[in-house]
Amino acid sequence: MSFSLLIHGGAGNITPAIMNAEQEQQYSEGLKEALDNGYEVLSKGGASIDAVVAAIKILENNPLFNAGRGAVFTKKGLNEMDAALMDGSNLAAGSIAGVRNIKNPIVLAREVMLHSGHVLLSGSGAAEFALNQGIEMAPDDYFFNKARYDQWVEIRDTNYTQLDHKGDNLKGSIPATDYKFGTVGAVACDIHGNLAAGTSTGGMTNKRFGRIGDSPIIGAGTYANNKTCAISCTGHGELFLRAVVAYDVSCLMEYKGLSLQDACAVVIKDKLVKLGGEGGLIALDANGNYDFCFNSTGMYRGMRNSEGKEMVAFYG
Ligand code: ASP
Repeated sequence: MSFSLLIHGGAGNITPAIMNAEQEQQYSEGLKEALDNGYEVLSKGGASIDAVVAAIKILENNPLFNAGRGAVFTKKGLNEMDAALMDGSNLAAGSIAGVRNIKNPIVLAREVMLHSGHVLLSGSGAAEFALNQGIEMAPDDYFFNKARYDQWVEIRDTNYTQLDHKGDNLKGSIPATDYKFGTVGAVACDIHGNLAAGTSTGGMTNKRFGRIGDSPIIGAGTYANNKTCAISCTGHGELFLRAVVAYDVSCLMEYKGLSLQDACAVVIKDKLVKLGGEGGLIALDANGNYDFCFNSTGMYRGMRNSEGKEMVAFYG
């Protein structure tokens, strides 16, 4: 039986001009490690939902990505994280929003899905639930990252909110083409044909206290349904929320009979562009069709499947 795993580490203005050889190697190794961990689960006959969590945990532990350890700073200089997980076999879902000091937000999202009786927990309620479930915590300094701190210091006295920017073009207004989104995500199909999707993020640098993006919102940044597809998004969350991106791709497949690739293209390259939204998504269906679709110049991404196909890429 066949299985597949796709991951992303954010989309945006990612070109050879902003990456040196060492950075390319670091990103490549980070993505490969996540793919290997998820692949191991799938190759042993494990469930797609567990493969998604295994892959995302690795990305959350890697400070290169804007999730978990590498989460960006809010207006108040804190790290507030969002994450979601969805099981395409039964449409079960769990999300958390605005959590602090949680080492692996995706693990807490799984706990919400399995043990809370709810879909989305936020802030202090999510923190209390995490404590009761024995979820691993980490102190503030675990999340401290000099590069992201400097990004925030440059704009903390402005009204800008910034999407995990490269940090070298911040004076004056920030051109949309310089945005880089470091959110992470994974989608998988296991040997039973079950789909799953997950997304984890620190959101946007200098975001307001309490701001929640698309990542933890089922149907916007994250969605999975065995009948259609599994999707994880990255990009300017406000636009992805307004366009209900992930569920829109699924709807185009379910109600209009579009192929996975065509549905992704309509949403990301047409509808989202018209709304002014930049970013992308990873998508997979139960027949092994997959797509990396983005309207930005690049997206950190990778895939590995049971046919022996394996790749990591950054640029468009
Ligand atoms: N979509 C995320 C958010 O708006 C940001 C990202 O993809 O990097 O919170």
